[in-house]
Amino acid sequence: MLVLGGTGEARRLASELPDVISSLAGRVRTPRLPPGQVRVGGFGGPEGLRQWLLSNKIDAVVDATHPFAARMTATAAKVTAEESIPFVVLRRPGWAPGPGDDWHWVDSVAEAARNLPAERVFLTTGREELAEFADLGNWFLARSVEPPEPPMPRRLQVVLDRGPFTVEDELALMHEYGIQALVTKDSGGDMTAAKLTAARALKIPVVIVRRPPLPDGVSTVSSVEEAVSWVRGIAEA
Ligand code: NAP
Repeated sequence: MLVLGGTGEARRLASELPDVISSLAGRVRTPRLPPGQVRVGGFGGPEGLRQWLLSNKIDAVVDATHPFAARMTATAAKVTAEESIPFVVLRRPGWAPGPGDDWHWVDSVAEAARNLPAERVFLTTGREELAEFADLGNWFLARSVEPPEPPMPRRLQVVLDRGPFTVEDELALMHEYGIQALVTKDSGGDMTAAKLTAARALKIPVVIVRRPPLPDGVSTVSSVEEAVSWVRGIAEA
């Protein structure tokens, strides 16, 4: 079994299943490692993944990557379909606005950059997307796991941190920097949802990037428990 990882769900899945190889992209220098066997780094596109799956005699693949890791998911969907290897995508549910929220949905980080509703903006879209904001004169607070690299905005404060975050932490951070708007991807899940609760409490607008669509025809599950059942079903078949 191959678990494509980089998420908390992938780590939990690896701890609940025997005989799993977890795969990480290798973007973070000190990743939180799942238990069991782990490989790190890209496969080298569809042909690299195909060779890797065949030479490791993989029986099934669970894609538990982040909802915005669309390239990895597209590659895995294509190669597993061509090789008739059972494949499922574990996608946690997205976030939904509640009463009092002022959310503005956009289709990309670039579109978010063109639609900033305020001057002092908290960016939580990841360091690799900071380039989209580089030409803007707004003041930015950016939070990421690793330090960002240029191009990035001129007026930028970086906070290096990774979730989970509490509502109290998020409120304190937003207060400290006088944040007037939040930009986020629709990552879903509990680990990073506190910023949305804090934005609601502070009555600040949220620009939220819609998830990329899943490849046509892939099977999906929405929780680790469902993914475990799917794997057991494959093992019994
Ligand atoms: P991506 O754009 O879909 O993937 C780009 C390339 O990175 C893939 O083509 C693949 O290289 C390699 N890759 C991605 N995930 C991999 C994995 N689990 N194992 C081995 N190679 C992988 O992905 P991304 O958005 O850069 O995300 C990279 C990693 O960070 C993923 O593991 C994802 O779960 C995690 N992550 C992403 C986000 C986000 O906002 N995008 C947030 C949190 C965590 P090859 O083509 O060479 O195989």
